[in-house]
Amino acid sequence: MYNPNSLNADEFIDHNEIMETLAYAEINKNNTDLLEQILNKAALRKGLTHKEAAVLLDCELPEYNERIFALAHQIKKDFYGNRIVMFAPLYLSNYCVNGCLYCPYHLKNKHIARKKLTQEEIRKEVIALQDMGHKRLAIEAGEDPVNNPIEYILESIRTIYSVHHKNGDIRRVNVNIAATTVENYRLLKEAGIGTYILFQETYHKESYLKLHPTGPKHDYNYHTEAMDRAMEGGIDDVGLGVLFGLELYRYEFAGLLMHAEHLEAVHGVGPHTISVPRVKPADDIDPDAFDNGISDEIFQKLIACIRIAVPYTGMIISTRESKSCREKVLPYGISQISGGSKTSVGGYYQPETEDDLTSAQFDVSDTRTLDEVVKWLMEKGYIPSFCTACYREGRTGDRFMSLCKSGQIQNCCHPNALMTLEEYLIDYASEDTRQIGETLIMRELENIPKEAVKQVVLKRLEQIKNGERDFRF
Ligand code: SAM
Repeated sequence: MYNPNSLNADEFIDHNEIMETLAYAEINKNNTDLLEQILNKAALRKGLTHKEAAVLLDCELPEYNERIFALAHQIKKDFYGNRIVMFAPLYLSNYCVNGCLYCPYHLKNKHIARKKLTQEEIRKEVIALQDMGHKRLAIEAGEDPVNNPIEYILESIRTIYSVHHKNGDIRRVNVNIAATTVENYRLLKEAGIGTYILFQETYHKESYLKLHPTGPKHDYNYHTEAMDRAMEGGIDDVGLGVLFGLELYRYEFAGLLMHAEHLEAVHGVGPHTISVPRVKPADDIDPDAFDNGISDEIFQKLIACIRIAVPYTGMIISTRESKSCREKVLPYGISQISGGSKTSVGGYYQPETEDDLTSAQFDVSDTRTLDEVVKWLMEKGYIPSFCTACYREGRTGDRFMSLCKSGQIQNCCHPNALMTLEEYLIDYASEDTRQIGETLIMRELENIPKEAVKQVVLKRLEQIKNGERDFRF
């Protein structure tokens, strides 16, 4: 029985509720009266239910689809401005005891190089990442209680935060590790993590069980209820995601939004972010082995509909996607992207060559350097932001949401983006990128609504030029 307040995964992600939602969307996808109603509600920017959003996702009428994209674009501009937050993944270890059919780290894969970074190697990776200009990382590890116990993850987080190379700093560590206990989530919180990210992979329980035939990840309920345990452990920024391609995208879309509704109902705060990975080729993985791959056009619509349904949730796209695909989806809701990423263990410090046995998790489609990505974003009119202020100022969970809802983002996130971009330009950018960036910062200063804030930012920019670092609102 569907119940968003329940703590049982079978009840808050109820299969029958999803099937009814899909049937409702199918019947109503071209019902113009209903589409008008839903779009009017969406224009209030307070979000939509999974049922309403499912109708928009299925809609086939070109004039309504145009309105859906236009609204997604407008909501993105109103809530996130033209800022794009930058991050990079850091793979700590690819030892894994699970049997995930889509992932080359699965236990039975004997022809992948198994690696686990020592603390000294982590230091080298972090220096390489700092030298690129990164301030925000997402750490990744396979699930292996013997090789990657929580103590190893905690020690690695401490190491990452302790490295300060030249003007470098990692100021926010997000964590993408397997579902764990309340106690371990509490320890991660105490270690100062930003967001806890865990992809559901698929909300379709039957498929989930088949796709995860062995290992602790086989336990669908334990995995699906992880965010509740994370929140019980004190982590209030959690990141959801689905691995698109495994199951029907309509099903996943409804499940994802039901999960967000569940978190809001039980904990009073929805997901901080939603990631939208698609299955990619990897060592012994062929994405064509899965029947539900989606085109770039559907991908774009999915992103627009997520933006409209959960306006306060950031959306992340990784280098799994190519430059041209990222370009297509940025306007409709993406607020964070990775750049210069390596998905191999130790790949920043010592890139793997073609002769090496790979340790990578999947093939990266966007292989540009961080500098190239930053320059490209600016040429497209975006502000690459290296800001990590919110959680360091205690603006997590509902406090972040209220900043978003109050419209104060332009007086807070916008200046922070400009100041952190200035740091990047001075410390790491190529001459070309720096010049484009300085012009952009001068132009964007005019978009700070409060004169007093603008004056402070001007002063801070001068201080940054004189060598000071890490200012924030
Ligand atoms: N081991 C952890 C877990 O089980 O959640 C987390 C980290 S895993 C390194 C990060 C994510 O990469 C997975 O949740 C999965 O969605 C994604 N992934 C795995 N194989 C992939 C592939 N072939 N293509 C694209 N993404 C993949």
